[in-house]
Amino acid sequence: MDLLEYKGKQVLKRYEVPLSAGAQAATVDEALAAAEAIGYPVVVKAQVKIGGRGKAGGIKLAADADAVREHAGAILGMDIRGHAVHELWIEQATDIASEYYAAVVFDRSAKAPLVMLSTQGGMDIEQVAAERPDALATLHVDPLVGFQPFHGRRLAFEAGVDADVVRPVGAMLATLYAAFEGEDATLVEINPLVITPDRRVIALDAKVTLDDNAAFRHPHHAELDDASGADPQERMAAERGLTYVKLDGDIGIFGNGAGLVMSTLDVVAHAGGAPANFLDAGGGAKAEAIAASVEVILSNPNVRAVLFNVFGGITRCDEVARGIVDAYALLQPTVPFVVRLDGTNDVQARQLLADADLPNVHAEATMDGAAARVVELARAGSGSGSAGSSA
Ligand code: GDP
Ligand code: MN
Repeated sequence: MDLLEYKGKQVLKRYEVPLSAGAQAATVDEALAAAEAIGYPVVVKAQVKIGGRGKAGGIKLAADADAVREHAGAILGMDIRGHAVHELWIEQATDIASEYYAAVVFDRSAKAPLVMLSTQGGMDIEQVAAERPDALATLHVDPLVGFQPFHGRRLAFEAGVDADVVRPVGAMLATLYAAFEGEDATLVEINPLVITPDRRVIALDAKVTLDDNAAFRHPHHAELDDASGADPQERMAAERGLTYVKLDGDIGIFGNGAGLVMSTLDVVAHAGGAPANFLDAGGGAKAEAIAASVEVILSNPNVRAVLFNVFGGITRCDEVARGIVDAYALLQPTVPFVVRLDGTNDVQARQLLADADLPNVHAEATMDGAAARVVELARAGSGSGSAGSSA
């Protein structure tokens, strides 16, 4: 889970990472109240999960109430490369002498956290790594030993930070590592980490990614998720515990097993169609879970036909057929279903579907045949006057 800057800062604050005072705001009035409480000048910052907000006009300095009103009004509702701004972070403005870069990231290939520090802050770090690898100091941390004070000093020294801030920058890295470890993060990135003219070290921006697999150890992480930013179908699927990824096509996909679902996407694309989602119902899915899956698939308004591609191993095809019949009665879909069931209890499953005799449900014997059929039905259903899909 990626956190908005201000939620990341909430997390970092508990680990005593040095930050500027700030407050969240969702309206111009809230932004004004926040600025009055903090004191001018402030920085008005768009809260979206994408970098480069500064360049996009989503970060503005405001010296007084009029400026806050003007900038908050302009930034709220702004679209930053596909991300709509619903929230602002109003922060006390900081004077900057130097902009550095610091990050702790999980390096899977080394099976260890990697701490990085550079004096080339504000810049894209991939560019720094490519053009000036010497300007990026790195250190893998043995998780059993942890981050030691000398690690911080060594990184600061190697990166070439100003001599008078070697210790405070090292100490800052230690707080970032503590947050990374304590919260089971996979990324804590500060760009820029600034040195003020009076030589304080402050985390001016924060990008924090938490490991969803560790969520059970951190009940408070649920509050850090901002559902408003999530896709409605993906949110619905998450609530039902389903593995669902929204795609931009018009053919709903239901399958069991990630591998089979991936191949189903390929086969549909090969047949000239565009999948609307990835959905893996998993092994042994029961009728109830199947109905829940169908509900999520159909809640996407782009869906014009649904393909069920099930290979029965642990999953029994008759259970899936029962699930489809139940879901059909419950949801009364207006789009055609194409069903390909093979494997455990497939004969009973086909019989069940034949007996139910549902209108607009088409059985197919092979995966290729089913893909061709669903693409054809989706096109037929895309209505007159539309340009149709270009294969
Ligand atoms: P990003 O563009 O999405 O990475 O957003 P940042 O939070 O990193 O802000 C972008 C840039 O705005 C920073 O690199 C700073 O140069 C500038 N900036 C942000 N906050 C302040 C501030 O308090 N004072 C000053 N002088 N500049 C700031
Ligand atoms: Mn930044």
